[in-house]
Amino acid sequence: MEFVILAVVIAVIAVAAISGFVVTSRKKKRLPTAPPSSPSVTAPPAEPHVGEEAETPREEPRRTIEEVDLPGSGAPAATAEAPAPAAPEVPPVEVPEPTAGRLVRLRARLSRSQNTLGKGLLTLLSREHLDDDTWEEIEDTLLTADVGVTPTQELVERLRERVKVLGTRTPEELRGLLREELLHLIGTEADRTVHTESGVGPNGEEKPGVVLVVGVNGTGKTTTTGKLARVLVADGKSVVLGAADTFRAAAADQLQTWGERVGARTVRGPEAGDPASVAFDAVKEGIAEAADVVLIDTAGRLHTKTGLMDELGKVKRVVEKHGAVDEVLLVLDATTGQNGLVQARVFAEVVDITGIVLTKLDGTAKGGIVVAVQRELGVPVKLVGLGEGADDLAPFEPEAFVDALIGD
Ligand code: GDP
Repeated sequence: MEFVILAVVIAVIAVAAISGFVVTSRKKKRLPTAPPSSPSVTAPPAEPHVGEEAETPREEPRRTIEEVDLPGSGAPAATAEAPAPAAPEVPPVEVPEPTAGRLVRLRARLSRSQNTLGKGLLTLLSREHLDDDTWEEIEDTLLTADVGVTPTQELVERLRERVKVLGTRTPEELRGLLREELLHLIGTEADRTVHTESGVGPNGEEKPGVVLVVGVNGTGKTTTTGKLARVLVADGKSVVLGAADTFRAAAADQLQTWGERVGARTVRGPEAGDPASVAFDAVKEGIAEAADVVLIDTAGRLHTKTGLMDELGKVKRVVEKHGAVDEVLLVLDATTGQNGLVQARVFAEVVDITGIVLTKLDGTAKGGIVVAVQRELGVPVKLVGLGEGADDLAPFEPEAFVDALIGD
């Protein structure tokens, strides 16, 4: 009997010891993923790395073992000794398309959506008698395409004058005329570069280029931040992403996925946490790892709530403790027309917008918004979104845009 009891006791102790080992080893496996003092920096596939300290206390990063055990596919290997798992969980880091001439490549898409404007204008201008009614129709066509009242009147006035001088009109002459006048309206002189050059911080340290991406939710802000990261990576830059849209639960995951695809780290904070703190941490991380550019996705839905708009101003001010912000890009959905202009006005009151990104130009015939929004803000359209594909974001080129409007 005693022997039986002894055997049972030994068996219980053995089971307890084994399960204790399993728990301990699990804990050990998790350890490298989340050092207690780390900010929520999600690593790209290789060399998981975190900054030294966080500005604010954070929740434990929601990283999983799968994320940490990434096989370094496509990126430089982190450690040589760990045998690679059989099936990689994450696809290899992608090499995005080069950006030069993207708009020309995407022109077919632009033509499909926009050339009712150009074709409509050309047809009207080709009429034998250009009477007042025809000029009114030309005006209506421009207004329908969201060009805006004042620019429409200017264009019609200039066209009228030039057509009168021209006398008889061949289709080629008309096309040339319209092309020139549309280009005049859009402007060919503005600096449309997205400025991402590194600079010098307040303490003389080298600082990455810092870009704030702002706009109302649903305009394509997070998608644009992700696509812009690809544009920069394609141009040979290293990028850190800041997921400062802490109001929308899925935004940080969405951004992180974009980042992982091109090997860019994402700094994120607790859900509903302080966006300014995440933005600050992102730039700090960018400085720590000598990244070329830090892209910060901010919270949308702001224009309806004064407090939240103030929050955006605070994000910018806090980031500026690391040095100047190089670009503030306002993302506008081209399909929203006048509503987009109202948004533009509200955002411009809070932060100095330096460039506009017009998204979803593939889904609307109202390309005239390019003209209207530039007039409204006095800043140029720098990028346009032409689809949901990863490389469907193009630097805005007035000539290619107008050519797509009026065809060759
Ligand atoms: P956010 O709330 O402003 O961050 O918006 P998201 O980035 O989540 O985008 C909202 C939706 O717009 C998504 O379904 C995107 O795929 C879509 N989207 C973004 N840019 C474009 C674009 O240029 N063209 C089209 N067709 N869809 C776009």
